[in-house]
Amino acid sequence: MRILIIEDEKKVAKLLQQGLEEERYTVDVAYDGESGSQLILSETFDLIILDILLPKKDGITVLKEIRSKKINTPVLMLTAKSSIDDKVEGLDAGADDYLTKPFSFAELLARVRSLLRRGTVEKSTTMKVVDLHLDTVAHKAKRGEKIIELTGKEYALLEYFMRNVNRVLTRALISEQIWNYNFDTGTNVIDVYINHLRSKIDDGFEKKLLHTVRGIGYVLKDE
Ligand code: CA
Repeated sequence: MRILIIEDEKKVAKLLQQGLEEERYTVDVAYDGESGSQLILSETFDLIILDILLPKKDGITVLKEIRSKKINTPVLMLTAKSSIDDKVEGLDAGADDYLTKPFSFAELLARVRSLLRRGTVEKSTTMKVVDLHLDTVAHKAKRGEKIIELTGKEYALLEYFMRNVNRVLTRALISEQIWNYNFDTGTNVIDVYINHLRSKIDDGFEKKLLHTVRGIGYVLKDE
């Protein structure tokens, strides 16, 4: 699940990002309305956390703009004031829910979960490759009857592979998608993570799912 935070207060944005990443979400951050709306138009997110008071373009404008382009990603608005007008304006503009600052992280997380659940009602919440199952709401994996415990990064990696079954994913793609920046090509962090993930999903099973494509990257195969 990929979440975009649009918030100009760097400290708040950072805290939210860290907290959500610990909960195994993939998080992108934009610090103003303009770069935020550009990201929404060019990439796909499962949820947007949108502050109202933002430089360059305010949150309400961003929201109206994306809704007019038929982008229906759930939006959680952050309002600085507890003003009723702000909330009404936000909801009128197409926000799905709002939180008044200051709020607790637990409260935010509860809203995030509920919005993501709502958004996935029509979509299936379980992905399947051969006998490997992934619940994208509960963030749980199972191979056959064996429950697989995953760390946050491992979960994000596995979801990425399962969304791209039989497609070779390069280290550059993986690093961009999961870590949001490019690793020094000299490091083997990605390989270490993938080896851990591979032993969790493939060890003890005759059919191996995660394969190395020498010199290029990795592929999750269902054939
Ligand atoms: Ca702000």
